[in-house]
Amino acid sequence: MHHSDMHDRATVDVVLALFADGVSTDEIARRVGVSPSTVRRWCRAPRSGPDSDGSRRDRCPICHAVGLDDAEYAYLLGQYLGDGHIVEGRRGVASLSVFCADDWPGVRAEVERAMCAVMPTSSVSSVRRAGCREVKSYSTHWTCLFP
Ligand SMILES: [Zn+2]
Repeated sequence: MHHSDMHDRATVDVVLALFADGVSTDEIARRVGVSPSTVRRWCRAPRSGPDSDGSRRDRCPICHAVGLDDAEYAYLLGQYLGDGHIVEGRRGVASLSVFCADDWPGVRAEVERAMCAVMPTSSVSSVRRAGCREVKSYSTHWTCLFP
């Protein structure tokens, strides 16, 4: 079935979130429980972005005092308060989830865009649920933005 795929994707997301936060690949391997070579392979894949000049760190508006897209943040906050939650993982990586009903297909794209705008270094994935999609993003900094 697809369950193992979803787990693998979540594991990759956690690894990338830790890597973006500056955790060493050996430390990530120890925390997540996969081999260091696997961690390095996942983290080597280049990410497209306006500033992919070696700086892959999370740019958290709270911790790093970088600019925040106020409009997208306000939108995402509304969605989060309405139909979302944050799960703090044991590895220090939080996942932000917003549930987007299938009845409103445009909302999912807006939520994905808002997550990307607010935390550009984190990838956004989505998981099919009954009657909706769970849009998810992993970062060590979601709990800074949504206390
Ligand atoms: Zn932060």
